[in-house]
Amino acid sequence: MNNEQLWQATLGELELLVSKANFTTWLKNTFIVSCHDNLAIIGAPNTFTKAWLEKKYHQHIMQALKNITKQPDLKIEYIVETAKPAMSRPRIDAAGPRIRDAKEAATTIEFNQFGLNKKYRFENFIVGSGNELASAASKAVAEKPGNTYNPLFIYGGVGLGKTHLVQAIGNQLLDNNPQYKLLYINSERFTNDYVQAIKSGHIDSFKKQYRNVDVLLIDDIHFMSGKEQTQEEFFHTFNALHQNNKQIVLSSDRPPKAIPDIEQRLVSRFEWGMIADISPPDYETRVAILEAKCNEKNYSLSKEIISFLAESIKNNVRELEGGLNRVMAHHQFTNHDLTLESVKQVMEVLTSAKTRVSLTPKKIINIVSNYFDIKIDDIVGACRRKELVVPRQITMYLMREEIKSSYPSIGQELGGRDHTTAIHACNKISEAFNKDERIKNDILLIKERLYQE
Ligand code: ADP
Ligand code: MG
Repeated sequence: MNNEQLWQATLGELELLVSKANFTTWLKNTFIVSCHDNLAIIGAPNTFTKAWLEKKYHQHIMQALKNITKQPDLKIEYIVETAKPAMSRPRIDAAGPRIRDAKEAATTIEFNQFGLNKKYRFENFIVGSGNELASAASKAVAEKPGNTYNPLFIYGGVGLGKTHLVQAIGNQLLDNNPQYKLLYINSERFTNDYVQAIKSGHIDSFKKQYRNVDVLLIDDIHFMSGKEQTQEEFFHTFNALHQNNKQIVLSSDRPPKAIPDIEQRLVSRFEWGMIADISPPDYETRVAILEAKCNEKNYSLSKEIISFLAESIKNNVRELEGGLNRVMAHHQFTNHDLTLESVKQVMEVLTSAKTRVSLTPKKIINIVSNYFDIKIDDIVGACRRKELVVPRQITMYLMREEIKSSYPSIGQELGGRDHTTAIHACNKISEAFNKDERIKNDILLIKERLYQE
């Protein structure tokens, strides 16, 4: 494993430990300058980042690197270094499956001039029951933009392929017609651009830029929640494009109606076209995804190991990929043959790394109350109104599932309830998780927040 691969594997692990925003700000542009004699030198693009890495992320980085290198006395130094060292060819040896081609091994992502990741294509998107509709609708839109479903609104939890699909539409459209005026952007960028345009008095050119396209792809539209001015502007952008039969594609972590603080007239427009949800992949789809990813990387894994991975990572394709990368990195680094046992160990470290983010009962209560926008007192209190009972039961369920609290202690945390109440709540929510899409979606979103900082 070369430094680049080692660092990619480390970043893969760190990505699970820190929030997306922090990851992008502090970790994404770092790299390994050198790593030998038990000393890893990490390059940061500026002094500010270097200081943050040292102060805030050192422990995480150290742990992740040690997990992968299995060198307990590894030391780390941080320096300011802007240029990444040139990629060296990965070590290739005859024993066991290896990445065959340095080019394929390079994890550098290639973007085209529209900011689309060229790797996100329909051809490498595995279709299963959870994403069938979203994928078919996306293909239809890519074939006949503006006519079929306008807008196309795709929603689903994190890491389930929304960005992949939205960008696949863009890539396909450009393949069909390279002259297409296409704009891909996430809603935070839209907001920032709008704010900048107001500040600098360039609102006209802002309008022109957004209204003069054939296709507008906006990722993560839920971030417009609570931003009234931006919503107002987007409303007009939407109308201008829609009137001219220009295609609009939106993604979100939840259905239009469930996005908080969003104008009703936007919600109704989002519902004009097609709404397609993506739910977590079933077992067969997870296996197919793992096999496809192995194929892409020219890597082979036994059926036994693939089914173990597919069994252990259920709710998120990004994590599934992360698990696979982790296993590959471990394999390449240690040079030992992979066995089901060694894979189990590697995954064990990964799962315990997640629980290390010191989740406590209090934190779960806090996050659930925040998510449902109800008071902590109401969650632990006695009132039996339905709007409170479900969040309360979800809180108990998460304490059991995520930090393995005992039933009596769960009852205790929830205002001194009896342990049988806790058992009942956990059973009820486990059942609902499999039957009720809405509750499932809520739980997945809450879980995401639990593991952010
Ligand atoms: P989201 O935008 O919903 O958070 P992404 O589109 O970023 O999720 O997907 C996360 C990762 O999982 C990406 O690398 C993506 O390519 C991969 N992925 C998700 N769904 C699939 C699928 N059905 N087939 C192949 N890869 C997938
Ligand atoms: Mg996304």
